[in-house]
Amino acid sequence: MIEPVAQLMSSSELTPESVPSTKGMPMLGLGTWENEDPDQCAESVRTALEMGYRHIDTAQAYGNEDAVGEGIAAADVDRSDIFLATKVWISNLDYEDVLETTQESLDKLGTDYLDLLYVHWPSRTYEPDATLEAFDELYDEGTIRNIGVSNFEPRHIDEAREHLDAPIFANQVETHPMLQQTELRDYADEHDIEIVAYSPLARGDVFEMDVLSEIAEKHGVSEAQVSLAWLRANDVTAIPKATSEAHIRDNWESLSLELDDEDLERIANVDRTRRKVDPGFAPW
Ligand code: NAP
Repeated sequence: MIEPVAQLMSSSELTPESVPSTKGMPMLGLGTWENEDPDQCAESVRTALEMGYRHIDTAQAYGNEDAVGEGIAAADVDRSDIFLATKVWISNLDYEDVLETTQESLDKLGTDYLDLLYVHWPSRTYEPDATLEAFDELYDEGTIRNIGVSNFEPRHIDEAREHLDAPIFANQVETHPMLQQTELRDYADEHDIEIVAYSPLARGDVFEMDVLSEIAEKHGVSEAQVSLAWLRANDVTAIPKATSEAHIRDNWESLSLELDDEDLERIANVDRTRRKVDPGFAPW
């Protein structure tokens, strides 16, 4: 399923082609939640694209689709080379609202199509028949190239698959060494759905994990790189949010890190569980 990198590159040799992709989606992207200052957000997006990132993740709820669009416009990279994903917020999931607010997202992002549009959460105005009818329509007319869901449990995906004609491309869920999502990953494998890891650095908590620090020290890299390399080794796409060029680059350089079997096993055996994103409307 994954088209692997031919050989691991030293960080100075990394190019967009160094990023493995799965069904056309680059397995490392840039997250933008809470990158709220418009100038900074546009600058982070431009910096990432010019460094070689080709996958950008935003959402209606982040209030920064305009700024993300500006960053894309400012970068010396063609739109057609970028995998751009946004998400429809939980108050906009009625049939008409999905269609209307997706158009607004397109206008803000300065594009006429999305590579991936997610249902952000199966919550509040989410009604599988009405919501997903609108997603199917956007898919059929080519406005969205793939349909994604986010924060869905297997039972929600089973239900969504009954309503959708188009395939579910990805489920975006919190995934990192302290929330390994083994059950969801197995379910996704079985149904040919990609897992996209949000909060892949556990919102900064990976820096406090002794196991990750020890592995990081062994390889002379950061804990962030270890977490991202672990996700990649498990066929999981990651979208770390980073604002500064230094963080954006550190995460990019995770592409040069290959963890060995012992490292992978040590991380698989982490028995601490920590969920960082747990709003009242979560379905679990
Ligand atoms: P995250 O990516 O796990 O962590 C982001 C934090 O780590 C920020 O404070 C960032 O700081 C810092 N950081 C990034 N790279 C670093 C590095 N190399 N060294 C040190 N610190 C570093 O958390 P997240 O933002 O929650 O998740 C990533 C993305 O997933 C979001 O931005 C969003 O696009 C998506 N997401 C989706 C959902 C959903 O419901 N679907 C929920 C949460 C997140 P700086 O900003 O200062 O660089």
